[in-house]
Amino acid sequence: MIIGLDAASPPLIERWIDRLPNLRTLYQSGTHGTLLSIVPPSSVPAWQCFATGKNPAKIGVWGFLSIGPDRRLRHGKTTEEIGCLWDTCGKAGLRVGVFNIPGTYPPYPVNGFMVSGFPTPPGKDWAYPKDLMKRLDQTVDGYEIDVPLTKPSEMRGGEEAYLAQVERLHTKSLESAKLLLEWFKPDLFFMTLQGIDMVQHDFSRYMDRPESEYSNVVRDWYIRLDQAVGELREFTTPETYLLALSDHGSMPITTSFHVNEYLKAQGILKVKNRSEKKSREIYTPLRKMILKTLPPNAIKAVYRLTPDRIAHKLTVSAQHERTLTRLVDSIDWSNTKAFSTGGPQAAIYINSTNYNAGSLQNPELRAELVENLETMLGELTHPSTGERIRAVYHRREDTFQGPYAMEAPDLAVELFGKDEKIHINITLGSGEIWTFAPHLSSEHVREGFWCMTGPGVPKNLRLDASILDLAPTLQKMLRLEVSQDVDGKILTQLLGQAIVIHAED
Ligand SMILES: [Zn+2]
Repeated sequence: MIIGLDAASPPLIERWIDRLPNLRTLYQSGTHGTLLSIVPPSSVPAWQCFATGKNPAKIGVWGFLSIGPDRRLRHGKTTEEIGCLWDTCGKAGLRVGVFNIPGTYPPYPVNGFMVSGFPTPPGKDWAYPKDLMKRLDQTVDGYEIDVPLTKPSEMRGGEEAYLAQVERLHTKSLESAKLLLEWFKPDLFFMTLQGIDMVQHDFSRYMDRPESEYSNVVRDWYIRLDQAVGELREFTTPETYLLALSDHGSMPITTSFHVNEYLKAQGILKVKNRSEKKSREIYTPLRKMILKTLPPNAIKAVYRLTPDRIAHKLTVSAQHERTLTRLVDSIDWSNTKAFSTGGPQAAIYINSTNYNAGSLQNPELRAELVENLETMLGELTHPSTGERIRAVYHRREDTFQGPYAMEAPDLAVELFGKDEKIHINITLGSGEIWTFAPHLSSEHVREGFWCMTGPGVPKNLRLDASILDLAPTLQKMLRLEVSQDVDGKILTQLLGQAIVIHAED
């Protein structure tokens, strides 16, 4: 049983461990540690990298949305070809269940079932086998995959209304997971719960403000998720291997760095003369108006009843789509050397196709520009404290290996202030390089957690690992062939005297 607690952070688990009896028990009766996520530490592709043991350049998944070398938007997808554990195990005869893993829309046939995680467009099929949709819908009174609203500030009823939505979604997710375990009794079950990620982004800002009525929201959601782990554990036996993990952690943010405005100020990025405002922009005001005016239940109905094409345009992921599209539209490609598509690490691409008739295809010039960017970004100081910003660089050639490496950012940069991560904003047009109070109050970092219990798994052992290590380790434990092209290593400590399960009924 694999339970993903999206974005659960080791420092916060440690801080509240006395209130998390289930995780504490798992830590004590098994092996646990920090789980280092991939670059970029976004739910997609982090869950896909976990499930395959491969870096993004081997599976060609870069995010929910990314810009390809052709500057077109791409949606990160999970397919049978990338070799997720649920597919390799399914082929070996194990019955698998895949529930609510981000980036698994569209669902596809597995030896068992698959219920898509977010983002899933409204009105589309979200389960294999298809009749599972009706069954879940009926049992939990309308199955839900996501909250349509991610910014409490934009929503009628604000924080309270938002929390009620997260609460309802969580209850339905947990209920559905338990039903699926009961109905299918899979040999391997993969699932995630999204509650922590959802509240962390919006409520971290209140965490150390005891005067706020929301000061304990994040803590209380760690407790909720711990309880969920307890309820799911009731479906296990002493022979079950239980793995709980997060795909990344999170850190507070208070400051935004407008990376493309910065590149523009340095003469590295040029903007087209403003002429065309695209008609698609009408959806932003429309969406804002709907969210601010209608109560949440009515919004749900709007999403459900409007034609797919329009409903999609009102979602948050469509908003992200518009931000990227606007970026591509506003850049003067023939005079731009580099640009960033953002993310938890500013993904910076060298514009090698058009710039100076492709002269940046020249590896030396490219290396020089990457080096210059590193030097420049390394000299940034925090706009309010004056302190040097700490920059962590991930160059393409050191970070990404595989057939899709050419789609990887030439340079990914994480920026940190004192006790916080710097938020990356990619929009152009404000003319400002630094702003404060971004709409989110936490950002993903690479440090997540993991813990595992089961026959032969060492007790009370601390072992830090890479998120890529778990797939080959599980394959080994299941006596399946370990894929040749994995990037992770087998955690041999876990294999000690492991009793191995066979692929049989
Ligand atoms: Zn995540």
